[in-house]
Amino acid sequence: MSFMAREIEAMKEAGLYGTIRTLDSPQGAWVSIEGRNVLNLCSNNYLGLCNHPRLAEKVKDDVDVWGVGPGAVRTIAGTLRPHVELERRLASFKGAEAAILVQSGFCANLAVIPTLVPGEEDLIYSDALNHASIIDACRLSKARVIRYEHSDMDDLRRKLEETRGARGRKLLITDGVFSMDGDIARLPEIVRLCRDFDVMTAVDDAHGEGVLGRGGRGIVDHFDLHGQVDVEIGTLSKAFGVMGGVAAGSATLVDYLRHKARPNLFSSALTLPDVAANLAALDILEEDDRLVRRLWQNGNRLKGELKELGFDTGRSETPITPLIIGEAADAKRFSAELFEAGLFATAIAFPTVPRGTARIRAMISAAHSDDDLRFAVETFAAVGRRLGIIR
Ligand code: PMP
Repeated sequence: MSFMAREIEAMKEAGLYGTIRTLDSPQGAWVSIEGRNVLNLCSNNYLGLCNHPRLAEKVKDDVDVWGVGPGAVRTIAGTLRPHVELERRLASFKGAEAAILVQSGFCANLAVIPTLVPGEEDLIYSDALNHASIIDACRLSKARVIRYEHSDMDDLRRKLEETRGARGRKLLITDGVFSMDGDIARLPEIVRLCRDFDVMTAVDDAHGEGVLGRGGRGIVDHFDLHGQVDVEIGTLSKAFGVMGGVAAGSATLVDYLRHKARPNLFSSALTLPDVAANLAALDILEEDDRLVRRLWQNGNRLKGELKELGFDTGRSETPITPLIIGEAADAKRFSAELFEAGLFATAIAFPTVPRGTARIRAMISAAHSDDDLRFAVETFAAVGRRLGIIR
């Protein structure tokens, strides 16, 4: 067992060991941590739905009717009417024929990738900056994984050409919005290339759901690619403010996953409170796009003002706002001093991002007010100047 203590020590020495803070209040624009009220700029609570009264009310009502636990995996006795209703509603929201629910976004990748391309002769084309859950899902398959340079369509084309004659099934998988940089996958070009080379396409839209497209309908809607992407993978833990994963596409795809995907066959269904809260989140999203518009206004303002101050916000095209610092220890110090000044923004370092690109990832939400934004910019400016990150 001594290897664990040794590795923890090594992480501490390399500045890669972080404090995990505990919230003593619900998730929100401001949270209580260690007895202090701090502005929260690092959750994925894009639309402020995590603690929305309508989600909470729906959960209370539905628990009285449906109880809590599903009691089984979906294929045995764990499919309750609300699961089926949420799947139907999610498919309709995304403009897909059908959708299957799983327990999380992580599980959704595990459900899709090794199921569609399981074999030694199969090929997976994967963007170099894809999320860890995609990388792990690829490892669960025996397929050969071909990594292409991040969003580099020339490199992708070259790799597709090199493997044109391969006999197995082929799947391309990409993040929709890259979670650490906030840039958007070049999906129209990817779809065109994959059509030319007869490769199935899957996009993990974890950070696009509730963010991109009309009323937050996601990346496929954003690029108007309905019916052209084989699998839309998503999570209900970010903009939806709850928990759960989803894969949407053709009725045949969803039928196949229902009968073959191991997270569906061997792990129990999503709990009923999760399903209820997600149904209420969908109601809110489908009523109007106020929250989505507010999120973008806040994101554009925060990013614009931080850039003007001289912060390196990288290549973000979405409300995700990285402030790239470089060394892990410097990013951690920045985060610690921001916290002292009343702003909660965790540092992100290797292995979540490449070495030498440690950063603060500022995550604004629709729940932040104009005063919150002003406080955020002033605090980033004051601490950034004090530490010599900006001038
Ligand atoms: N895919 C991507 C691109 C993500 O950013 C995340 C969340 N970090 C996940 C999947 C996993 O989602 P969940 O938290 O619902 O398991």
